[in-house]
Amino acid sequence: MIPVTKPYMPSRERLDKYLDGIFEREWLTNNGELVQQLTRRLEDYLGVENLLLVANGTLALQISYRALDVNTSTSFLQPEAITTPFSFIATASSLKWDGVKPVFADIDPETWCLNPERIVEKITQNTTAIVPVHVFGNACDLGEIDTIANMHNLKVIYDASHAFGVKYNGESILKYGDAATLSFHATKLFHTGEGGAIIFKHKYHFERAKMMINFGITGPECIDELGINAKMSELQAAMGLSVLDEIESNFRLRQVIWNYYALELDGLVQFQKLHTNLFYNTAYFPILFETEKNLLKVANLLKSKNIHARRYFYPSLEQIDFLGSDDNQTISIDISKRILCLPIYSSLSKADQAMIIKIIKNSV
Ligand SMILES: *Cc1c(COP(=O)(O)O)cnc(C)c1O
Repeated sequence: MIPVTKPYMPSRERLDKYLDGIFEREWLTNNGELVQQLTRRLEDYLGVENLLLVANGTLALQISYRALDVNTSTSFLQPEAITTPFSFIATASSLKWDGVKPVFADIDPETWCLNPERIVEKITQNTTAIVPVHVFGNACDLGEIDTIANMHNLKVIYDASHAFGVKYNGESILKYGDAATLSFHATKLFHTGEGGAIIFKHKYHFERAKMMINFGITGPECIDELGINAKMSELQAAMGLSVLDEIESNFRLRQVIWNYYALELDGLVQFQKLHTNLFYNTAYFPILFETEKNLLKVANLLKSKNIHARRYFYPSLEQIDFLGSDDNQTISIDISKRILCLPIYSSLSKADQAMIIKIIKNSV
């Protein structure tokens, strides 16, 4: 079976070394040695400050909303956040879960990220934030979103779950926004089994979030604020450190796979238009067909050979009943019907990839 992705499995000897340390210290969670080590190593690797490790990428979003007061509107009405319908469900459902109404704005037909002009149209007196997604690791319109946020006094939280290692103008893309969140779920490029991180622009938001992920506890007999449990454990950090130790070879292998698809499929299907000045991380290989019918034909042919390409992201999120949206985002609906993510993971063999390419070539 060829899945759309496989979790990266680091060497057992390497992981065992980190686990030996855990057994020596007998310390399993609550900002242990390995969580501290992984924090420093990631800050260094990504070139960022104020990085907070958390239990998963969804909590990374939720803690960011709370730390930045996105769930408190100045009016008495429900706070709203403007977000993209072309994403994984967690981007919008995390808002709703926290009492913030997700208000969808449409995407750009080529970059597949939020269209800044559509964002502006959705701003009301209840809007507290913009939650854009660097979808598939492409950069949003960072400058324009920044300008809009400043003009309307809105917070910006980038869901950067796909953007580990992505650089814009030579610098980490995670430096943009009041906060950027990462998911370290098993299927992501860099992972800790389950896990995530938040990168805050300001130290005081980082400090507040750090307290929030541990029940709001600030000292042995001191509870200062409403919090929750969103801590990363030592076992997760051990996996993360092992994966990080091998990240360069993982990237190299993925790049070869990514380049092979790009070369062979050029002109047959449409690709995502990546921003200029972007250093891409090869996290995904999405292709856009001319029609949904073509997509279904190819997806079924692949499935008959036990190759499981996936329809990321389908359906467009405003179509989901419980998210209660009142208007259709026509570009997102159209793109989400025609897009397919091809298998990409470091152990995908050249022969298997050649078979995938052949099936696509033969049917479009
Ligand atoms: C994976 C993902 C999440 C959720 O992360 P978890 O670690 O699975 O909670 C959120 N947003 C996007 C865009 C994702 O791809």
